[in-house]
Amino acid sequence: MKEYKEEEYILLSGIQHFLFCRRQWALAYIENQWEDNVKTIQGEIMHKRAHDAGIREKRGDILTVRGLRIQSAKLGVSGECDVVEFHKDENGVMLHGEEGKWLPYPVEYKRGTVKEGPYDEAQLCGQAMCLEEMLCCEIGEGALFYGENQRRHKVIFTDELRETVRFAINEMHQIYDRGSTPKVKPKKGCYACSLKNRCLPSLMKEQSAIEYMKQSLRGDED
Ligand code: SF4
Repeated sequence: MKEYKEEEYILLSGIQHFLFCRRQWALAYIENQWEDNVKTIQGEIMHKRAHDAGIREKRGDILTVRGLRIQSAKLGVSGECDVVEFHKDENGVMLHGEEGKWLPYPVEYKRGTVKEGPYDEAQLCGQAMCLEEMLCCEIGEGALFYGENQRRHKVIFTDELRETVRFAINEMHQIYDRGSTPKVKPKKGCYACSLKNRCLPSLMKEQSAIEYMKQSLRGDED
């Protein structure tokens, strides 16, 4: 299996954007264009809170580590986990300075609520796959914590979800290497996209507004 060099790593956090819209991901992560809107600012505040609360704390059989740096040579990604809980478990791994064995359980903080697509699940699964490679263990599940209902949503890392992660990251690498921002068909989610002001004018630049509307109604892909 191919292993990436560190200088080839891309950011794992981009996978949620890529699965939602590959053009959004490319604008943000290849072209470095990003516009804050209320949603992205709320998301940043949630992540800051998750990271600010402390680096490492232990309560009973759960050791909580915040802001843990992660990477995977197999996937060619790097990133940071909001929270990784280590649950005391015979199937876990030894940790420096701790007695017994501990099984990682990643927890990612998100604003809003559960989404229709597997965007957040794929990001969390990617974190688990990095942790598995770094710590030589198997992680079966983790959780997404949504700000709107203040609840945890359990995520099982199925073979299908892992394959989604591998496939998406492989495509991200290919597009990143080409350095070209893909064109995509406008969709419902465009209205809430923080990059619509940068993206849609360029989509419409080469065609009239009428043609653009006709194409959208036909559902044509660029
Ligand atoms: S406006 Fe729509 S097509 Fe453009 S980046 Fe955002 S989601 Fe993608």
